[in-house]
Amino acid sequence: MATLLRPFSQPPTIKSSPINHVRHTPLLSSPKPASSKTRRLRVQSGNLGNFLDLKPESKLGSLDIDLSWFHPSDRSGFDLIVIGTGPAGLRLADRVSRYGVKVCCVDPSPLSMLPNNYGSWVDEFESLGLGDCLDKTWPMTCVYIHDGRTRYMDRAYGRVSRNFLKTTLLENCVSNGVRFHKAKVWEVKHDEFESSIACDDGSEIKASLIVDASGFASTFIEYDKPRNHGYQIAHGILAEVDSHPFDLDKMVLMDWRDSHMGNEPYLRASNSRIPTFLYAMPFDQNLIFLEETSLVSRPMLSYVEIKKRMVARLRHLGIRVKTVIEDEKCLIPMGGPLPRIPQSVMAFGGTSGIVHPSTGYMLVRAMALAPVIADAIAECLGSARMIRGRALHHRVWQSLWSSDRKRVREFNSFGMETLLQLDLNGTRGFFDAFFSLDPYYWQGFLSSRLSLRELASLSISLFERASNTSKLDVVTKCPLPLARLMGNLALEALS
Ligand SMILES: Cc1cc2nc3c(=O)[nH]c(=O)nc-3n(C[C@H](O)[C@H](O)[C@H](O)COP(=O)(O)OP(=O)(O)OC[C@H]3O[C@@H](n4cnc5c(N)ncnc54)[C@H](O)[C@@H]3O)c2cc1C
Repeated sequence: MATLLRPFSQPPTIKSSPINHVRHTPLLSSPKPASSKTRRLRVQSGNLGNFLDLKPESKLGSLDIDLSWFHPSDRSGFDLIVIGTGPAGLRLADRVSRYGVKVCCVDPSPLSMLPNNYGSWVDEFESLGLGDCLDKTWPMTCVYIHDGRTRYMDRAYGRVSRNFLKTTLLENCVSNGVRFHKAKVWEVKHDEFESSIACDDGSEIKASLIVDASGFASTFIEYDKPRNHGYQIAHGILAEVDSHPFDLDKMVLMDWRDSHMGNEPYLRASNSRIPTFLYAMPFDQNLIFLEETSLVSRPMLSYVEIKKRMVARLRHLGIRVKTVIEDEKCLIPMGGPLPRIPQSVMAFGGTSGIVHPSTGYMLVRAMALAPVIADAIAECLGSARMIRGRALHHRVWQSLWSSDRKRVREFNSFGMETLLQLDLNGTRGFFDAFFSLDPYYWQGFLSSRLSLRELASLSISLFERASNTSKLDVVTKCPLPLARLMGNLALEALS
């Protein structure tokens, strides 16, 4: 169905069903290692602004699952070690172990609940057979371009049940015989046909292949080029509120309105240069997840600035936070160079370059790519084959970063570079045109489903639909990124 264009938001129309589970100066600051923290808070807030002062009350809990623990007698017996039991590591361990490949997952806290509030398009999760892992869905999504213009999209969005997702992945691993070791990996070493890890508990474990799925802050993966990432940074709260103005049947993908900055000239000026938007999941009239987000910035927009903008926005929207149930700091490196390909450690998840460079989304991509990499690993390490060392590393890296995927990533990185050039008005114009595209294109772009040829068509349509100001923006501000894109595509074609 085509995207609908309507004036400013209507009052709530559909009451959604209750959810089943409930899931920080200067303007610019220098990048720090990526982090994500979700804290559980239960402190009352007295006025519109002071929810930022609330202190965490308790930590994330643990899942109650009986894991098969690593035993010292297993020390030399693994085909594969996966570092990290985040969604990427567990999904890969699950898929590889289905082939009878012996896998050990190592994490300081394998049973910890996943910390992040993940969202996804419903069709994406369903196509992976993981529809059950969504604990709340919204039939529509909307994007507020500015006060007088809102786009409504017929694409359902869902909130991922972190507990259910992790439980499902862990249980699959357990039933396939995956072992778990509770430790932090300090070091990875390599011989010609075997690798090993050294952990903080003094243990050393050997395997034919090590996969690093330890997230964005990993230090095990090497790069040939300087890492000029963009950064997505956001502050999110799951909050109990007196009321909020959002429709319960619509997930707010982006709210670019800036009327809340009327009395805040400094905030308005900085937001005009480096804009932030609100991402909101309204669960009911009194429960809502709110996240003030910088889509991409370089250098990174300061966390303090983001929080100030959020305070001003909530005040303007009349949202009084009574209780903060959870909060999260979201920091996602986007774009930048890929790791050196191949290298002795295989990367997967946040550390592998699969984050969408224009959006910061990764979860579904990791879920979808794990079986592809698992096939390659099983081909090499499965019972019938004996492919080890360089040939193994080459094969698994190629399975993730084929030429086609690299070219598409180049294009998506160009998207990120374009977004980095745009101010608030340019960004609004961009998304206004983007969400007016044929859904095949905008949905395909966001879901990394388009071929390079389709991406080229998308760009032409986008340019045709853009306002004259946006066209001028692209022509004047983007020749360098465009030239870089063409150069990199040419190099990739020659390699
Ligand atoms: C706050 C936040 C919200 C996000 N929301 C979304 C979203 O809505 N949708 C989406 O698609 N993407 C989202 N992302 C991006 C991305 O999908 C997530 O970051 C995702 O969790 C990355 O998965 P991962 O398994 O690669 O790494 P992580 O989830 O970070 O897991 C890494 C694991 O490795 C372990 N580990 C780290 N170091 C070591 C070590 N030395 N030894 C052993 N273990 C180690 C950690 O304990 C952790 O368990 C979000 C990111 C953040 C930060």
